[in-house]
Formats: sequence, C-alpha cells, structure tokens
Amino acid sequence: MSAPNPECKVCGGSGMVQAPPDPPHPPSFDRCECALRKDILANVERGYPGLSVAPIIEKSPLLDQHTANVWVTTGQTFFSHRRHVAVRQPATWSFKVISDAELVTAWLATAGLGSGEIIDPDAYRVSTKYMTIPDLVSPPDLVVIRMGIKVARNVAAPEVLAEAINTRLHDRKPTWVWDSKASPLDAGSLFWSTEVASILSSFHRLGVTGNGGMPPGNSKTPTKKAPSKSGGMKGKKTLRGGGE
Ligand SMILES: [Zn+2]
Repeated sequence: MSAPNPECKVCGGSGMVQAPPDPPHPPSFDRCECALRKDILANVERGYPGLSVAPIIEKSPLLDQHTANVWVTTGQTFFSHRRHVAVRQPATWSFKVISDAELVTAWLATAGLGSGEIIDPDAYRVSTKYMTIPDLVSPPDLVVIRMGIKVARNVAAPEVLAEAINTRLHDRKPTWVWDSKASPLDAGSLFWSTEVASILSSFHRLGVTGNGGMPPGNSKTPTKKAPSKSGGMKGKKTLRGGGE
C-alpha cells in the first residue's frame, strides 16, 4: 500500500478517514483517496511501466471494454486510452501488456521442455523468465497483446497467437489485441492464419472505418463485425487524437 500524502487536507496525512457510523458496530476507517490514488497509479505502472504518465484524455470508447475481447487498431494514442481504463479500476485489478515477440519466446520455452532440442531461429531468446504460454497469459484480469514487435519470421507465429488467445478464452478472461496501421494484423502479417482470423472475428473491433463511428484503422483487414456490441459505441469519442 502506498504512503498517504502528508499534505492531504482530508485525512491530515494519516491516510485513513472515518467511515460513516454503522451502530452497533464500532467506528471503522477507510483508506483516504490520497493513498488510494497512489495505489492505483502504482498498479497501472505494474501493468505497463510508464503508463501512469501517459497523456490524460477525457473519454475512451475502451472504458467499458475491460471485460470484453477487443481488437483495436490504433497508434500511440492507445497508451492514453489504456491509462484511462486502468486508472478507473481498483488497485487489485491486474493487467499486462504482452508483445507478440514475448509470446513466441514463451512458446519456445514450452517446446524446449518436451523435445530437449530446439531448432528454431528464435531459440536464443528463450529464457527462464516464462515457462509456458499459459504461465504468461493466464494470470492477469486483462491481457493486451501488442502486435508488430516481432519482425523476424517464425512459422509457428500464428499458432502461438491462436494458443495465447484460446487460453484466455478458455479461462473466460478478456484479451485486447492491439495492432497498428503501420504493422497491421492482416494477411500480410507473420501472425496471420485462417484460425487467427476466425478467433478474432468474434472480437469487438475498434479503429476500423465504418464501425460505430470509429476512425479508420486498417481497412484492408478482412473482418467480421462483432454482432451486437459495435452499435453501442456510436457517439462516443474516437481513438483519433494523436499520431500513429
Ligand atoms: Zn488523505
């Protein structure tokens, strides 16, 4: 837990405020907002270092989506949207940003456990940091998979992505897949396959032309719109607002 603000006028620096009386229970105390705020910002930093100081935005279409599966195509403004969502969750909420490259590394670690010998161009990256894809992707309340980090081709890439997302689906936990116009997750991507396309077709799509008033994302990508959710995004602020 974070230290309270010694200058706080609400709690006088104690970090505690008296809860409303509830007789016959003895008086109880809640944590003051000055301490809670620090806890939440610390939690945001745990999920992604530097995120707590991302530029503040007033609204985000992602706000109510932290329990949904979302595929969003946008640029660096995504950091502000993620911050907007993360600071509105309790300090106990956990999220993690995992790159496509980390997924491949985790998969290789798994492969190495079984076969004893790995013949793969990415094998040198394998560390003991992650044991398996489930170890990597299962624990957080929300996982953001960041595409476009891995550049070197690996034939297993689409299966690795599918396994990561399927693991989350099996755990009934939400996943956000984040790609960009510069490096879109489409037929030209090294992570693309018909299986990946099929899995992602059930995801709520943000950042594509004509979808609920969102700005253009990657119009080349063959996508099926999520059947019911996209209509609800109309009228909300878009992801536009910064460079790609
Ligand atoms: Zn206080």
